[in-house]
Amino acid sequence: MAKRKLRIVRRTNNIPVLGVCEFCNMQFPAHHPLSGQSEAQAAIQQQFNAHKCEPEDMNQAAARTVREATKD
Ligand SMILES: [Zn+2]
Repeated sequence: MAKRKLRIVRRTNNIPVLGVCEFCNMQFPAHHPLSGQSEAQAAIQQQFNAHKCEPEDMNQAAARTVREATKD
């Protein structure tokens, strides 16, 4: 398995609320009430650790790149 990396893509008040796997682009929301930054980070990290990367075809990857480039 190629190495994968967790990236936090959204924070609210400095608390991570959404992470993505840079390898397969799966998203990991911290959607339950969280008391602080470390707890939110841990919740996202836990989902990241548990997921299996599923490679996608080039067309899907290209479409996602366009969407990410055009969002705020
Ligand atoms: Zn992945």
